[in-house]
Amino acid sequence: MSKEQRTRPARKAPVAPTAGNRETTQVQVRNKEKKKTSENGGGAKNLRYSHLLEGMVGCGDMVLLEPLTEESLLQNLKTRYESGEIYTYIGPVVVSVNPYRQLKIYTPDYIEEYTSRNMYELPPHIFAVSDSSYQSMRDRNLDQCIIISGESGAGKTEASKLVMQYVAAVSGKGDEVDRVKEQLLQSNPVLEAFGNAKTNRNDNSSRFGKYMDIQFDFRGDPVGGLISNYLLEKSRVVGQNQGERNFHIFYQLLAGATDDVLQMLHLEREVFQYRYLSEGGCSYVLTMEDDKQFQVTIKAMEVIGFSPEDISSVLEMLAAILNLGNITFAGYSLPNGTDACKVTEGRAIGYVCDMLGSSVELMEECLTIRSVHTTRDYVQKPLSESEAVFARDALGKAIYDRLFTWLVGRINYSIKAKSLTKKKVMGVLDIYGFEIFEGNSFEQFIINYCNEKLQQIFIELTLKSEQEEYIRENVQWKHIDYFNNAIICELIEHPTTGILALLDEECLRPGEVTDDTFLEKLDQRCAGIHPHYESRALKALRSDQTMDRDQFRLVHYAGNVTYGVGGFLEKNRDLLFKDLSQAMFACERPLLKTLFPEGNPKLQTLKRPPTMGYQFRSSVAQLMKNLLTKNPNYIRCIKPNDVKSGRNFHDDLVQHQVRYLGLMENVRVRRAGFAYRQEYGQCLARYKMLSGETWPVWKENPREGVKEILSACGCHELDFTCGRTKIFIRNPRTVFAMEDKRRTR
Ligand code: ADP
Ligand code: MG
Repeated sequence: MSKEQRTRPARKAPVAPTAGNRETTQVQVRNKEKKKTSENGGGAKNLRYSHLLEGMVGCGDMVLLEPLTEESLLQNLKTRYESGEIYTYIGPVVVSVNPYRQLKIYTPDYIEEYTSRNMYELPPHIFAVSDSSYQSMRDRNLDQCIIISGESGAGKTEASKLVMQYVAAVSGKGDEVDRVKEQLLQSNPVLEAFGNAKTNRNDNSSRFGKYMDIQFDFRGDPVGGLISNYLLEKSRVVGQNQGERNFHIFYQLLAGATDDVLQMLHLEREVFQYRYLSEGGCSYVLTMEDDKQFQVTIKAMEVIGFSPEDISSVLEMLAAILNLGNITFAGYSLPNGTDACKVTEGRAIGYVCDMLGSSVELMEECLTIRSVHTTRDYVQKPLSESEAVFARDALGKAIYDRLFTWLVGRINYSIKAKSLTKKKVMGVLDIYGFEIFEGNSFEQFIINYCNEKLQQIFIELTLKSEQEEYIRENVQWKHIDYFNNAIICELIEHPTTGILALLDEECLRPGEVTDDTFLEKLDQRCAGIHPHYESRALKALRSDQTMDRDQFRLVHYAGNVTYGVGGFLEKNRDLLFKDLSQAMFACERPLLKTLFPEGNPKLQTLKRPPTMGYQFRSSVAQLMKNLLTKNPNYIRCIKPNDVKSGRNFHDDLVQHQVRYLGLMENVRVRRAGFAYRQEYGQCLARYKMLSGETWPVWKENPREGVKEILSACGCHELDFTCGRTKIFIRNPRTVFAMEDKRRTR
């Protein structure tokens, strides 16, 4: 947004482009060009400026939107989007609408332009928020986090990469720093190869949540990083929806490895040769060159520091998984009538064993027989054909899931900062957005729980803290009602009465427990009691056709989601049969011993491993704790259409996202408030040179000093308010003017 537009009083800020607005823009361009010409000698820079301001339409900061309605907000996003302006501010929050085409706004010229500029000096851009966050980390020693949210395909991962690219470009240089930067950047292609897949919503959809701390030294140069991963969608390893694919790495391997390597891995090039790659009926993605990408992935692993042995072990695991999926079973009945089965595909199991370093007998046994613990002993129980298929798939998922976590750990080992001195940190969170599908299960339940928590942090940090600060500082403000979703978080996570706790309780309860008994329990404890829980147990909903008997519905902040309880218990237990983990530990490959430590016979404990829900709740709690210690920056991503098109802006689709991102509430709170606040002492220290000739050393009350400075700068009394400990300035323009004066002093 141009400075002139920002300085326009809020009431007159245009919603849609008007002739007047365009005129202002053109004048603006000329002024800017002139300024730049004198500063930098003109030339290419002029071009850049006119380019930056080209097509400036609508309102760049929706805090200035007038009138403010959901409709005008949507119209503003649409107008801007249609003229290629994909970024719009709400105060410090950046709203980003996926352009679905390459825009020339990420070049080194743009990076240079946005470097060390005040956030509002140039049109809204993801580089502006990256820069403001980076500067505040480097110069004010405040740890930062950048929270990127939005639904699948909205542009979160691309945004996180742009932030990293920006920080890498503007921070220091030197052999060691460059090496660290390269490693941090190269973690992206590796994690994407193993953690992303083509879905029907996004050709390159991240199927895991990622939080990455980039660590800096006191100069602001990157010295290392730390990645945390959340909940990989491992069910994708063994099956995909129609039109979707397994994780990219499998296709990359088959397309990109040499004939020799494939032969060593007992693999064939043909994708549909493998059951685990066939279910979605999709073997390639138009926008992706799997063979080339394979080289990129391997190169990235090398840059990060994976040894050739590490890389071979990883490829062997992938090959084992593909062949594992091709193992078939034939069922038969034992003389006593019990169902049993045997392996019928000798070649595949041989290949698997070769890759894992296991004997065929042991592998066959662990796939077809299960040891059951009785009060006295273990007895061997044969598995039926379908149980064996289940065991086979459980093993495939477990190997891949653990391999992925191992990869993250291996990357962390390479990128962790070498020195122990205190570091400054910038965290980037790229995590799955709210999911509402036709059928929602345990996975959606915990993903949506995570989003409730993120919304809570957002409320906590932006809305609530904003209002609380006004109260604390005794500053006049307009009360804004907002919905506090703490009540839904409680419903899910309360340690004894929350849904996750009830689920754990049911998983541990002896006797006949099923998904249905779990639902009964939920109904008993929540139906008619908790306002955000609904099910057919409620009288009013008994004949509700939109819900089945095996479903419950949560009234999330983002909307109602109906979850089917089928599979909740099993997914939460996430138990791998002991026979399988022991067989994996017994394999010759050292990597497998690392991946399946519980298979070590010397370490037999009867303690149950923590459930999936419990682990997720703990890691989310950890994440929230971490985020709360940092200064938050928000990038809210919006998907303009469902067809990956650079032209369509689907009003209903965007409206839905605007609602669940809470954008209207966000604008209202910002408008009621003050753009800038700072403690008197700090403000004084920064601007004391603007006081005129009488003093740079102020010995009286800092509050009076700040008032004098503001008056010396020509600020009207209505422009600011004095709080107990801080000065509150309504309009950012006032602060820009002071910054400008400071710079030219
Ligand atoms: P998410 O992580 O939110 O699911 P992605 O970041 O993977 O979404 O974006 C989905 C696709 O949209 C990308 O593969 C890319 O084609 C396109 N896209 C997203 N952001 C941009 C951008 N800033 N410029 C160009 N294309 C983009
Ligand atoms: Mg993503």
